[in-house]
Order: sequence, then C-alpha cells, then structure tokens
Amino acid sequence: MKRIVGIKASPGIAIGRAFILDRRIPRVEKKSIPEKRVKREIKRFLSALKQSRKQVETIRESLDSDGVEELATILESHVMLLKDKALERDIITIIEEQQVDAQWAVSEQIGRFKKLLSSVGDEYLAGRTSDLDDLRNRILLNLRGGGSSTLADVSDGAIVIAHDLTPSEAAQMGKTGIAAFATELGSRTSHVAIMARATETPAVVGVASVLQHVKQGQRVIIDGLEGVVIISPTPKHIEKYESKRDVYEYYVTELLSAADLPAETRDGFRIAVEANIESPDDIASAVRHGASGIGLYRTEYIFMQKAHIPIEEEHFLIYKSVAEQIAPRSATIRTIDLGGEKLAEGIRLPPQLNPALGLRAIRLSFVKLDIFKQQIRGILRASVYGTLKIMFPMISGIEELRKAKSIVEECRRELTAEGKPISEEMEIGIMIEVPSATMTADILAAECDFFSIGTNDLIQYSVAIDRANEAVAYLYNPLHPGILRAISRIVDAAHSHRIGVGVCGEMAGEPVYALMLLGLGVDELSMNPLAIPAVKKIVRNSQLSEALEIARKALDFTTVQQIEAYIHRVMSKRYPQEIASLSL
Ligand code: PEP
Ligand code: MG
Repeated sequence: MKRIVGIKASPGIAIGRAFILDRRIPRVEKKSIPEKRVKREIKRFLSALKQSRKQVETIRESLDSDGVEELATILESHVMLLKDKALERDIITIIEEQQVDAQWAVSEQIGRFKKLLSSVGDEYLAGRTSDLDDLRNRILLNLRGGGSSTLADVSDGAIVIAHDLTPSEAAQMGKTGIAAFATELGSRTSHVAIMARATETPAVVGVASVLQHVKQGQRVIIDGLEGVVIISPTPKHIEKYESKRDVYEYYVTELLSAADLPAETRDGFRIAVEANIESPDDIASAVRHGASGIGLYRTEYIFMQKAHIPIEEEHFLIYKSVAEQIAPRSATIRTIDLGGEKLAEGIRLPPQLNPALGLRAIRLSFVKLDIFKQQIRGILRASVYGTLKIMFPMISGIEELRKAKSIVEECRRELTAEGKPISEEMEIGIMIEVPSATMTADILAAECDFFSIGTNDLIQYSVAIDRANEAVAYLYNPLHPGILRAISRIVDAAHSHRIGVGVCGEMAGEPVYALMLLGLGVDELSMNPLAIPAVKKIVRNSQLSEALEIARKALDFTTVQQIEAYIHRVMSKRYPQEIASLSL
C-alpha cells in the first residue's frame, strides 16, 4: 500500500482500477534486434497499428454525432493513413532488412514520408506533416504499452491517473463514466479542478510522480476530501474508505434536502448564492443544489469543446436554453475568456512567453472582433427568453470597459435594424480580477451595472503566482491581507456607486470563507454547485453581526498565518462538519 498526498480538487471518494493516461512520447533510439525476433517485432507493430486505428475510429465516431466536421475530416485522413498498405509494408521492410525495433522503423518511415510531403512545394500537403507527427506518436505510445494516450479507451468506473488533463478532457469526464481522477500537475483553481467539481467527479491534483507509482489496472482510492491517493489498498483500507464514502454521501443528501431554503442569516440579512457553470448541462445540477441563479457562465468552454468556431446561431441557441432553463432567475453570461491555459481548436494563437499576461480574455476578443460580435449578438438575441446579464472578463481599465460596451451597442443597433427582438434592460458588468481594476474600481463602478470579483485571477495577478503551477501553490492564499483589502476596497467602490458586487472565484465556494465574505459586504457568492448547500447552511445558521466581526478581525491581522489560524478556529468551532468535509 502507498499513500500520496496531493491537492484536493473535487470532493468525494472513489475506489476502482487505475487507467493510466500517459502521453509522454517515448524517445526513439535505433535498437538492433536478433534475426529470430524479427517476426515477433512485426507482430508487435501490426498490433499497435490496429490499436491506433481503433482509437482514431472511436474518436471519429463520437465526433460524427456532435457534427464537428473539420475534426472528423482530419481524423478520417488519419484512419486512411493507418490503413495505408504501402506505409505498413515499408515499415515492415525496414524491420526485416535493417533488423531494428518497431519504434525505430515507424519513426524512420514516417520521417521519410514527412520529408516527401514538405518537398512537393504544396502548402496544403506541407501543412499535413503535423498529422503525421500525431500518427507517429500514437503508434509509438501504443508500442510502448502500459497505458493509454487517450480517454477513448477508458472503461466505466475507472480511475484516471495522468500527468495532466486538458480542460476539455476534464469536461468529458461526466460523460465517460470515469469514477475519479488524479493528475501530477494542477492546483485547486486550475481549470481541470474547476471542471472536476462541475462534473461532480472526485479528484486530486498536483500529486507529484503519481505515474511512477501506479500501474495499469491496479486498485486505487481517490479521496477528494483529503486530497489523497492510495495505491494498492489493503482490504482494511478499502473497508475504511467505503464507510467514509457512505458517511460523506449521507451528509451530502442531508444538505441537499435543505438546499432550496434561502441564504438568509438569523437576523434576516440575505445574500444571493449562485452557481458557476461551464455548460447548459450544468444547470440541472445548479438548480438541484439550490442556486438562486447563474452567477458565472464560462462560455469559453463552448469553444474548447468544438473543433470549429461557433457562429452566432449556435451562441443564440445555447444562451436561449440557459435563459429558459434558469428562468425566472437570472444568468450572467461571461464573454469568452480564451487564452492563458484555455485554448480552443479553432483559434490559433501565436506562442506567447507569458500567456496569462498576454492575449487573453477581453484582449483577445478585441483582436478577434468578428468572433466576439457573433457571441454578443447571440447573447442579445437570447435575452428576450429570460433574464441574461453580460459580463466582460479581465477588464484592466475604463478604456476596455468603454470599448466592450460600445461593441455591445453596435450589435444592439445592428439587430434592431434587422428587426430582431432584444431585451431593453440588460445589465452589463465586469470581472474584477486584475490589480489595476481593483485600484480603479471607483472609476469602473460609475460605468457598469455590477462587479464580480474573480479571486482566482485576482490572487494570481496580485501575488504574482501562476495559478496552475503546483510549485507555487503554497503562496496561493485567498487570505493574504492584500487580497482581503482588495475585496474590501472593491466592495466599497461598488456600494458607493450603488451597484452590486459578487465573488465568483473558487474562494466563494469554500465554506470556511463564507462568513468572512459576507462580513466584507459582498452581495452575492457564485460557486460550483456542489458547494452551494453547505455555504447556504452556514449563512442560515449565523448572524450578520458575527460575519461583520469575523471580517473586521481578519482585516486587522498582518500575516496570512494569523488570518488563517483565526478563520479556521472560528469556523471549525461553529461548523465542524461543513469545514472538515468540504473546505481547504
Ligand atoms: C476567476 O478568475 O476567479 C474566475 C472566476 O474566472 P476563471 O477562473 O474562469 O479565470
Ligand atoms: Mg478569471
């Protein structure tokens, strides 16, 4: 038995067999083999080829039904290459004649093929060389064995162990029947962790070297409550974790039964507790967990899950469905926040040295104006089907806010001229997640309808730490006095301009911070649906005066350690179960 501690990313406990997702491309060196091994080597190659074909066909079939045509066409060409008899024969000839291992023969022949394509002088063909690289890597990974390079092979109830997952792979989790996952990279606010919570998949991230310790098919336990991975547990451990799982599930059911009650303190002070979603499919869970609206819809996931750029009509239909499903409550549609670690197939970005500080979010939308306008038009058209609000990400100053608003105005005029109905009263707000926006919150508040504090990025940019980098995760602390002062300052600026202010970063969904945020004066908390019932329960069982006292004391301390010790002491005493099972 081995126990490895990581960072808890999504609550819950799962016990199952490991599915190793390993995309590290093996290094290829020329290895001679004795003559008597040649036949076996050819057989090994043919079996890897067959496996590769099957994988690509499975992915292609799953895409056909989604209508993702471009990607389906690319995969079609992969299948054709994998079925190409000449390529197969040439690789076999290399193994036979040079008496080398299959890895070398595959690399060699595909390398020759690439050179040939590049030398023809045809731009399209030259562009296909990356397809050949993909294919070579896939065959090499299958030759290496011991793990899979794609989630297409995963079976129900499996526990995925990977170096890293892309956010869109994490988004597929809910549909694949995966019981839980653990990754070597990642932090609590990385997008993979956010997706895990959205799909209710227990997960632990930042588990150093976990791939070195787990073998394919080995039994593992993922404890997303403690952030622990247990490899090869003894029957005694399994029993212990089964009972821990049952207790947790019972507790969740109990919380859920009161989820619809309002988040109102004993002395009658109410705040809105809303849900963050990454897809309209998450709305059912949001409502079930008692959300009083959608405080943040991360629309970039629409782009990340498609191989093409969505057009206005697709946007319209998605937001219409959101508006209708959540009505009479409201939904805040955040315009695309692509760039940084969130990449989309359809949008090619030049390599950037510091992507988080580069062309990201609203900056990218201004550059890709056509894509941005299609989204805005889609939101405006959907606005008549319910209550939608528009929110811009990563605003750093008033010029950006004005420019973004003027684009909305332009779309509004166009749609009106085209005779399309749009709602007259749509609120427009901004994320406060850049330090310069914090410092100019009073200026920004004068020209928008609401603020939502994105603490994930606000901490990243204020403390200067990469939010997805587990090596500096220890510095990622929402209780940094600089962050608490920033929140307090933003709240004051918003309230002096009579606009509402929410928090939608992961901090909002940590029950341990609930009363402090309430005391700091925020009007709304928006979080992953799973956290809603516990946060509401805490608010319902408290007095506003308690919350004010907690916030006042927290603001008085000078170090993170003091604030942390204080908040944890007070909250663990008042709400032991909520804090123990769901908090940091
Ligand atoms: C944030 O930065 O806190 C936020 C909510 O946005 P995202 O996590 O999508 O960057
Ligand atoms: Mg953000």
